[in-house]
Amino acid sequence: MAKVLIVLYPDPEAGHPPAYARDSLPVIERYPNGQTLPTPSAIDFTPGELLGSVSGGLGLVKWLESLGHDVVVTDSKDGADSVLDRELADADVVISQPFWPAYLTPERLAKAEKLQIAITAGIGSDHVDLPAAIEKGITVAEVTYCNSISVAEHTVMQVLALVRDYIPQYQIVVDGGWNIADAVTRSYDLEGMDVGVFAAGRIGRAVLERLAPFDVRLHYTDRYRLPAEVEETLGLTFHEDIQSLVKNVDVLTVHAPLTAETHGLLDDELLSTMRRGSYIVNPARGAIADQDAIVRALESGQLAGYAGDVWYPQPAPADHPWRTMPHHGMTPHTSGTTLTAQARYAAGTREILENFLSGQPIRPEYLIVEGGAYAGTGAHSYAKKD
Ligand code: NAD
Repeated sequence: MAKVLIVLYPDPEAGHPPAYARDSLPVIERYPNGQTLPTPSAIDFTPGELLGSVSGGLGLVKWLESLGHDVVVTDSKDGADSVLDRELADADVVISQPFWPAYLTPERLAKAEKLQIAITAGIGSDHVDLPAAIEKGITVAEVTYCNSISVAEHTVMQVLALVRDYIPQYQIVVDGGWNIADAVTRSYDLEGMDVGVFAAGRIGRAVLERLAPFDVRLHYTDRYRLPAEVEETLGLTFHEDIQSLVKNVDVLTVHAPLTAETHGLLDDELLSTMRRGSYIVNPARGAIADQDAIVRALESGQLAGYAGDVWYPQPAPADHPWRTMPHHGMTPHTSGTTLTAQARYAAGTREILENFLSGQPIRPEYLIVEGGAYAGTGAHSYAKKD
């Protein structure tokens, strides 16, 4: 029998919701590239319910316990006396979501003597030290595509919110005001702007497709070029690197994984090469940006706005400078954990667990690390390109 340690974000302050705003979720048959949605043998939850917080347990607890496994669900993950630290030593499986990441550092992995698999209920497994997982032969898997479209939608929302300066206008209404001049001094149309996408994987490509009808000029860079027919249909300009991309755009959106190559990439030097008054939306990972360089660029006017939903660390401390910097449109890490997305990644986590517990192979597209090496999506998106 396995010990499964599940680290989830805390319940709503008023407790698990007694009712929901909608009665059902739309049914999606397939992901845009033809990949099938998760295929667990069954699910123990109603899609549309809150599953990502402790009492939701990703809909896994009853099923795992019925099979005799030992299950611990906690939101306590930071500090030496956290439940995560206490329970890790004999856990076979750790499950965590990027929104509330269980940081599996080399020190923690060294203590996790029985750990066989770290599952990301979502996408983005940088909270696991991947080189250490490779060295220790721990499998790392995530639910590829489960919330890529969720994040693409959030990105488009934040691009529009920044460029049109929506948030202060909303605040004027809430505050009982009506000064139109105040409301529009930083408000522009997106139409005609140059928009650049850094990394056109599942999310980046969906952002390009969703922004194309806004009559913007679209640019992108990625380690792998999109098919020529996609570039032609969307009218894309390809750039060899991010340096060339950022110089030529008014809006930059960021969709690369956090790796040694992308860590701290948006720094003072790179930001200084952008057009004055550019906007950045980064729902990829907070640490791709140099935290203080972003604040400086907003204060100087080099950036006109910054948004996204990813921070470092998470949860962000109350005094994190991005909470109070000017002209930001930050959300807590929510883009990939809509109730819609939760149903998909809970089902995908169960699929991965069913395979793992029965000794069956895990789909290659869900694999980041396996057998002491990057594998599947990890080999494409995380490993250094030769
Ligand atoms: P994906 O694997 O489909 O795409 C990643 C793309 O990044 C690939 O095309 C890859 O070639 C490219 N890439 C990697 N390193 C690069 C580099 N150094 N330079 C240029 N391109 C590079 O993944 P996805 O589903 O599009 O997700 C992308 C990232 O978004 C995830 O790794 C995760 O960090 C983040 N994410 C955030 C949320 C959220 O809730 N905010 C949800 C899902 C994913």
